[in-house]
Amino acid sequence: MKKFYITTPIYYVNDKPHIGHAYTTIAADVLARYHRLKGDEVFFLTGTDEHGSKVAESAQAANKSPQEFCDENSAKFQMVWDRLNISHNNFLRTTSLQHKQGVEKFLNKLKESGSIYESDYQGLYCTGCERFITEKELLDGLCPDHKKAPEVLKEKNYFFKLKDYLPQIAKLINSGELMILPENKKNEVLGLIKQGLDDFSISRESVKWGIKIPFNDSQITYVWVEALQNYITGIGYGADEENFNKFWPADIHLMAKDIIKFHALYWPAMLLAAGLPLPKVIFAHGFFTIDGEKMSKTLGNVIDPEALVDEFGSDAVRYLLLSQFPFGADGDVKAGNFVIQYNSDLANGLGNLTSRVLSMAEKYFDGVVPEKDFEFSDETAGIWHQYEDAMKIFKIDEVIEIIRKFNSFADGYVERQKPWQLAKEDKEQLAKVIYNLLESIRHLALMVYPIMPDVAEQIFKYLNQADWKSHNFKELIDWGVLEPAAKVEKAKALFPRLEK
Ligand SMILES: [Zn+2]
Repeated sequence: MKKFYITTPIYYVNDKPHIGHAYTTIAADVLARYHRLKGDEVFFLTGTDEHGSKVAESAQAANKSPQEFCDENSAKFQMVWDRLNISHNNFLRTTSLQHKQGVEKFLNKLKESGSIYESDYQGLYCTGCERFITEKELLDGLCPDHKKAPEVLKEKNYFFKLKDYLPQIAKLINSGELMILPENKKNEVLGLIKQGLDDFSISRESVKWGIKIPFNDSQITYVWVEALQNYITGIGYGADEENFNKFWPADIHLMAKDIIKFHALYWPAMLLAAGLPLPKVIFAHGFFTIDGEKMSKTLGNVIDPEALVDEFGSDAVRYLLLSQFPFGADGDVKAGNFVIQYNSDLANGLGNLTSRVLSMAEKYFDGVVPEKDFEFSDETAGIWHQYEDAMKIFKIDEVIEIIRKFNSFADGYVERQKPWQLAKEDKEQLAKVIYNLLESIRHLALMVYPIMPDVAEQIFKYLNQADWKSHNFKELIDWGVLEPAAKVEKAKALFPRLEK
């Protein structure tokens, strides 16, 4: 059995879940579900990033202990993922004991490898925030929260010898052993190596809310350095080594493009130092605008994924978000057109075809599956080939396009064959047509399953295939799984039409 380990970034617990987080997580869920369908043993990891001074500040502002604050906000992410039907195997919280144990082990490994050293860190420090802040965060040279100029502060920190590992990482990227996708991101990362990067500090003395460096408890692990380690601690590094050895290295780390540098350079360098294998693929998807505008609080166009689920249902939200533009590229989410697209693609598309075919089976054959016919056997084999090719290279938007085409192909078949006329003229041909249509919707259910799992299960139920998972993938993509004389049910509307 093959294994497949997929991750999303862990989301910053100070944020509220928005559709940017949802987009990455739904995409990861589609890939995880597809690999489970194929029979792979899948581990799908997501979670929340909960340490650092900013989290401590927010907790204080909310009159809560940092842990209380994290518990509440992390629960919001978990609740939204539940509503979106996300099938993660673990939701890793960086305040968990499991994570802490793994981080300590990993930092000890880095120490043993000789890849870390002590040095002075100098930075801008706001005494109001009690933390280092970056030049970028300042407004007219002042801390935006405290309206005062930061001090230049020096402290002792541990540094990681990044520079030592860059040549090796460049080699691994060039040879394809470490794949950075899409291709333009790979060039971007190689460009960064060429420019040269400095060693980075992995600890802070002035921060309190975090994991102590195991060999010096006056130091706290720098929050993003600690966060990256979730990818190993989330599968048991330092806690459940058997599970860790089974799933590491990750088959794909999925993320938005703004954090690619950390994932494609800093993280692999630390793994090399610790003597661990590198992830196979690092995939950075693009940013999106909403109806042509950048998503921002001031514009008021930040979309709450829960509100979308309330309006469209989780399956449709998953479909609508992923079908907007090529996966990996930047694009525009046409949220203003969601109702139109829902009606055309889902209500008039898959929903209409399913209920039409099932009611014809009922009307002409009392819901009994007719004799098998193999008219589309080769056709569907070809379509599955395309489908798998697209999934293999993470082209989720192409998968959706393939499904759409197959749906219209089946619609066209109904129009050409005119079952309502065949019912009067040619019962034998009618039986063939209905069998082909029933098998077609079974194939469609299987194709949409990774994207719209609830609707797929519903269609399988109507087809009297509730136990479809007892077949393996190879059997399922074959033509002719529906057995003659079996009963099928009439369908209720899978996607009730929405009024604008
Ligand atoms: Zn401040």
